[in-house]
Amino acid sequence: MQIDLDPEGRKVVIFGDVSGARQALRRFVSSGATVTLASPRPLPALTDRISTVRYAAQPDPADTAGLLRLISPAWLVVDVGLSQPLHHRISELAAHLHVLMITEHPAPGGGQVILVGGGPGHTGLLTLEAREALRQADVILYDRLAPIEDLAEIAPGVELIDVGKSPYHHPVPQRSIEELLITRARNGESVVRLKGGDPFVFGRGGEEMQACIAAGVPVQVIPGVSSSVAVPAAGGIPITHRDVSKSFTVISGHTPPEPRELEGLVRLGGTIVILMGINNLTQIVAGLCRAGLDAATPAAAIERGFSDAQRTVMGPLGQLPAEVRRWDVCSPAVVVIGDVVAVSPQFAHSAEVIDAFGQRSRPPQARAS
Ligand code: SAH
Repeated sequence: MQIDLDPEGRKVVIFGDVSGARQALRRFVSSGATVTLASPRPLPALTDRISTVRYAAQPDPADTAGLLRLISPAWLVVDVGLSQPLHHRISELAAHLHVLMITEHPAPGGGQVILVGGGPGHTGLLTLEAREALRQADVILYDRLAPIEDLAEIAPGVELIDVGKSPYHHPVPQRSIEELLITRARNGESVVRLKGGDPFVFGRGGEEMQACIAAGVPVQVIPGVSSSVAVPAAGGIPITHRDVSKSFTVISGHTPPEPRELEGLVRLGGTIVILMGINNLTQIVAGLCRAGLDAATPAAAIERGFSDAQRTVMGPLGQLPAEVRRWDVCSPAVVVIGDVVAVSPQFAHSAEVIDAFGQRSRPPQARAS
């Protein structure tokens, strides 16, 4: 069983060395605890110390008086990578004094990069592994579509760097992001690159992985829930459905696909999912119809899936670009084309917008004016 406690204003004693305990230190200090670090001798140089932390020499297991001096005033004792005898002795004394004790893994010594898929922007869709990587990070570089709302709570005290891109604007160029990842990891830090959705689905995660490998920096990937599958679900659309569609293809609409590609898609006959497709929707839909897709095929655009501002526009494919314009549907949005759209309980043949609370609206004069 797990319970959450707020350490604000409480005395916390962390047993561990400065490097291994650095993340625990940061977390408790930023949560407002009064922190003592009991670290092995020699103690860190004055210049390397955090001004709000008290530093004490770590007693050995036989030094009961020394251990009691540290443990008895504490509310919580944290073991970060202690030897078995010291862990055993401290837990004995803490239990005797009714002081809480927890154990944490030491922060990794060598630097590393973890490419973390954050899902489509909603904290609840972060995986357990993603959450743990965020908590254990020294620094997080995040994107515009990543779930950032609760980052300060999930990763207290972790340095946050916004490298977010908005469509057609690249505040931090990709090469600079890669350089930053590599430089910080070479400093010995645990660097998390937090992305929206899955890092390898139109996320440039592959390039970042290659850059790290080329630089000799250890890199791992934690997959995320991709908007290509999850956002249609937010609109009630199953992207495959028995007897309706047995395949789906995810394409980027960032630049309109070639006629040849669109013909291939139409021949395949499955569900078509378009990411980054709102700005080129008119062109893409015209291309699909020219390639033989019926303009009456059910289609939908789901904007800002999983947020309170989620909206869904549904209707026949031929009318979708006009409806998207009329409702001023903007990026980020996922477009879904195929008979599966009609499986959604929200589907109605006339174009309508359905908001995050399932309310239907008629096309707006209000929004357009
Ligand atoms: N790696 C991401 C996709 C990055 S491309 C993933 O796997 O989900 C960015 C595009 O993803 C956006 O233009 C939009 O088409 C889609 N997208 C991401 N999050 C979204 C959301 N919450 N709602 C709607 N579309 C989203």
